[in-house]
Amino acid sequence: MTQSGPYDVVVVGGGPGGSTTAALVAMAGHRVLLLEKESFPRHQIGESLLPATIHGICRFLGVSEEMEKANFMPKRGGTFRWGSNPEPWNFLFAYSPLMSGPTSTAYQVERMKFDKILLDNARRLGVDVRERCTAVATLSEGDRVTGLRWTDEDGRTHETGARYVVDASGSNSRLARTVGTRNYSDFFRNVALYGYYEGGKRLPGPDAGNILCCAWDDGWFWYIPLTDTLTSVGAVVNRSQVGTLSRDPEAAMAQFIERAPMIKDYLKDATRVTEGPYGELRVRKDYSYAMERFWQPGMVLVGDAACFVDPVFSTGVHLATYGGLLAARSINSALSGDLDEERAFGEFERRYRREYGVFYEFLLAFYDMQHNEDSYFWQARKVSRAEATDLRAFVELVGGVSSGESALMDLDGLKERFGTSSRDLADAVTRTGPAQSESGERMGELFGTTVVTEVMQGMNEIQARASLGGATTLEQPLFPDGLVASPDGLGWADPTAPTTGT
Ligand code: FAD
Repeated sequence: MTQSGPYDVVVVGGGPGGSTTAALVAMAGHRVLLLEKESFPRHQIGESLLPATIHGICRFLGVSEEMEKANFMPKRGGTFRWGSNPEPWNFLFAYSPLMSGPTSTAYQVERMKFDKILLDNARRLGVDVRERCTAVATLSEGDRVTGLRWTDEDGRTHETGARYVVDASGSNSRLARTVGTRNYSDFFRNVALYGYYEGGKRLPGPDAGNILCCAWDDGWFWYIPLTDTLTSVGAVVNRSQVGTLSRDPEAAMAQFIERAPMIKDYLKDATRVTEGPYGELRVRKDYSYAMERFWQPGMVLVGDAACFVDPVFSTGVHLATYGGLLAARSINSALSGDLDEERAFGEFERRYRREYGVFYEFLLAFYDMQHNEDSYFWQARKVSRAEATDLRAFVELVGGVSSGESALMDLDGLKERFGTSSRDLADAVTRTGPAQSESGERMGELFGTTVVTEVMQGMNEIQARASLGGATTLEQPLFPDGLVASPDGLGWADPTAPTTGT
C-alpha cells in the first residue's frame, strides 16, 4: 500500500458531475486528484442536454469553443406525443423569456465525446486525472471522511488523504452509502431498454434536432437524433417487465416499436447498430432516487451518486453539473476559510435538493397529463391514484422540507395551483399539429408556477454569469438566511456580511 498526495480534494468519477466539480475546485487554486475507473472515451446514456449546461456550465468551464467544434446536434426543445392530443406538440426553449436569443439552444451529444471534452478540460486546468483507477473505500476518523483507498491500473492499492472526497461515481456508487441511505421513488420505478439506429426519420425543418418523446399504452419512447443519421432510441416501461426484456431484449424492443405508431414510422427505413460501442441493447433500472443526505463532514455527493429522476425532461446532466458547481463553491469556501463547513455545505444541499424537488414535482404532473384509462402503466402513475402517503413522504424528503419550499410539499394542491397559476409562460408551448389541446395548456401552467420560474431563473443566472465572464450583481439569496455566489462564481458570499475595502 502506498500513501500518495498531498491533495486538497479527491474526486471519484470522471463523468460530467466529477469533471465539473474537479475543474472548478482547481480553478480556485486547490490541488485535486480525480480517479476514473474506465478509460475515456466510454459509453454513457444521457445524451439530451439543457441550455443551462451548454451556455452556463460549459462556458464557465471554458469549453464553449470545443463544444462548437464537436458539431453536436443543435436542440431547440422537445417534441411530444403525450397527453390527450393525438398530434405531436413542441416545447421550445426560445419561447421562455428566461432563455431567449442565442442561449435558447442546447445540444444532443454523444456522451463518449462530451464527457471526454469535460475530463480533458479538467486535466488542462491542473486536475491530476488518473484513468483506470478505482475507488474502493473512504477513510474516516470519527464521523469525518479523511481520504480514500483506491487501486491503480496495475492493481496496486493506494491511500490518499484529502480535506474533501467528492463522490461523483454515478448511479452504481458504492461510496455514497458512507453518507446515508438511498430513497427510491415508487412513482418512477420504471425500466429503460435502449439502443442505436442508423437512418431513422427526422422531425421536419428546424425541429430536426429536438428530442422526441412518444407515450404509448405501455410506457414512452425517447428518440434522440445524435447526428444526421444516428439516433438513440429508448423505451421506458413498467419495472415488472425487467425480466422479459433482459432475457430477450431484441424481441422486447421489436414489440415495443410495433406498438408505438410514431416510432415505428420513424424507424421504418432504419437499421439497428449492432457493432462497436453503440452495438448493444442496454437495460437501466432503479434510476429514480435521492440520497437522504448529500454531504457529511469531509465528503460530498454529486450527480447520480446523489440523485436522479426519470429522464423525460433530460435533467440528469444538468443536475450533475449544477450539483458540481454548487459543491465546488462550498468546497472552495470551506478550504479558503471564508465560511464554516456547515454553512457552506448547507447552502449546497438546500439548493441542490430544491432543484431536484422541482423537477420531481414537474415530472409527476407531466406523467399525470397522459390519460389512458386502459393502460396499467399510465393508471399506476396517476398522481390522484398514487399512494399518497408514500408519495408525500418521498417528495417531502427530497423536495421540500429542507428548502422550506412549501410549494414542493403539497401534492394534493398540485392541480389547484396549476389551475390558478400565472400563465406568463403559456406561450412556451406550440403545436405542430392543428388541434388545440389540454397538453399545451398544462405545460404553460406548469411553467408558470413560481417555483419552476425560479429554477429557470436560477439556470438563467448561471448562463448570464458565464456570458458576462464572472462578476455580476444579478443574484439574490435563494433562502432568507442564504448565501450568494462570490463575484468570481467559484465560492459563496454572505450577503449580510459588512463589505470591506474602499
Ligand atoms: P456518470 O456519467 O455515470 O459518471 C460516473 C463516472 O464514475 C463513470 O465514468 C464511472 O466509470 C466512474 N466510476 C464509477 N465507479 C467508480 C469508482 N469506484 N472509482 C472510479 N470511478 C468510478 N440525462 C440527461 O441529461 N439527458 C438525457 O437524455 C438522459 N437520459 C437518460 C436515460 C436513462 C434511461 C437514464 C437511466 C439516465 C438518463 N440521463 C439523462 C441521466 C444521465 O445519464 C446521468 O444523470 C448523468 O450521466 C450523471 O452524470 P454523473 O457524472 O453523475 O455520472
